Amino acid sequence: MSMQSHLEHEVVILGAGPAGTALAIGLRRLGTAVTVIDVPRRFRAVEGISERVLGGLRAAGIEQALAAVAEPSPRRVRWDGEDSAANTERLVDRARFDALLRRDLEAHGIEVIDARVLGCTRAGARHRIEIEPVGASGEAVALHADFLAEARGRAAPLPTRARVRGTETVSLLQHWRGAPCVAGSAVESLPDGWAWMAAMPDGMRYLQLTLDVASTHLPPKAALADYCAERFRQIASARSFIAEAEALGPPTARTSTPVLVESVCGADWIRVGDAAMAADPLSGNGIFQALSSALQAPAVIRTLRQRPQDAELAIAFHHQRITSLFFRFARIGRDFYAQAREWADQPFWATRRDWPDALPLHRAFTPDEVRIEQRPVIRDGWIEAARVVVTPDQPLGVWHVDGYEAATMLEVASTAARGTASPEAVLAALAAHAGGSLPRARAMLDWMRAQGWIS
Ligand code: FAD
Repeated sequence: MSMQSHLEHEVVILGAGPAGTALAIGLRRLGTAVTVIDVPRRFRAVEGISERVLGGLRAAGIEQALAAVAEPSPRRVRWDGEDSAANTERLVDRARFDALLRRDLEAHGIEVIDARVLGCTRAGARHRIEIEPVGASGEAVALHADFLAEARGRAAPLPTRARVRGTETVSLLQHWRGAPCVAGSAVESLPDGWAWMAAMPDGMRYLQLTLDVASTHLPPKAALADYCAERFRQIASARSFIAEAEALGPPTARTSTPVLVESVCGADWIRVGDAAMAADPLSGNGIFQALSSALQAPAVIRTLRQRPQDAELAIAFHHQRITSLFFRFARIGRDFYAQAREWADQPFWATRRDWPDALPLHRAFTPDEVRIEQRPVIRDGWIEAARVVVTPDQPLGVWHVDGYEAATMLEVASTAARGTASPEAVLAALAAHAGGSLPRARAMLDWMRAQGWIS
């Protein structure tokens, strides 16, 4: 390959975290030539994920990195002074996980360039990406791409102002080392924030304090290690994590302010993962959200590139899904914060308990508010318009239920019922659209009632 052709690319993805990796594999599956540019992150961190994230990783074609996901371990919760029943989470060693994501990319035959992205600009109808290859002693190289996917997480520059930005929040992560132990984690609310702690079998402990930027007075950098160590000694749930363990120096500060970017997609570019919307770590759903946005993106990119007449639909699809995901998790976070009544007047809690709005997580509605409308959906790897059932609680619409078109099923059930048909006749009408199966039609009817679509 000549140097010149190596500098010309179809689709370039910046960043190989869970979002960039899932997107690269998804594009590759659609037959698109894709190049990923990434430098590994500089600090070690442990994060917790749920079972459904594991399923999402597998669905995305991520297999090797699963070796860095531990078996479920107990998670203790002490929120607003109350201990709640133990549940579990899977701890992920992010340094190892991220390194193994590279292997997943290689296994799918995807080219990864080890380089720091210095900047991106327009070069006519293409993108010019300036990079500094790792180990190249500061020499910059420029690449060109037809399509650019931004997946550098929170490190991605904001092209415009953020559309929504929560209260400024910082997480201080301090490493401790103790004897090998049984893995586990805990979370506890504090007067000025909350703490999350994790212990790994090799004895490493990860203790994280999440605080309000405006109202917290942190000591100078040199005193930060002692400040954190002292704080953890005062936290009841942290005691078992730091007993006979030693703090390994100053903490790493991670910005954890929730951010929704104003514009997440254009005709020849897209933002996925934290680069599009970064959630409050309290929701513990960052990797899930990164995957969600990346899993839908290959169809969006394919439509933008090969069916430009549907570009508006594809852009609307990506934008609506990202926005909806962001607000759903922001409201879940808000409701957790509101549960902490003990310190409700303290700045950390007072500025988070009502954000982003007062809308309930789930909106109540009556059957007359349920509509059938056209919305963008993913059909066979393309973004297309389809008839979906829209409710105040599901504004993006429900397309299929159990393999059947939801709009048709609702239409059949309501038309039959409006004609004052007997319950048996409604069932028979539905069954005619459900492969002739009465039990299937009954299940469908019960499901629509449970959703509040019909009375
Ligand atoms: P990232 O994982 O950030 O990946 C971006 C990639 O781009 C990295 O490899 C990075 O090194 C690379 N990169 C960055 N800049 C450049 C550059 N200039 N050039 C080249 N490459 C670059 N989520 C959970 O699910 N569970 C948790 O418990 C959890 N805890 C969290 C705690 C904190 C304090 C924070 C801040 C976040 C937490 N998250 C958690 C969220 C989770 O880390 C992210 O949501 C997730 O990693 C986002 O994936 P991503 O692929 O979008 O970005």
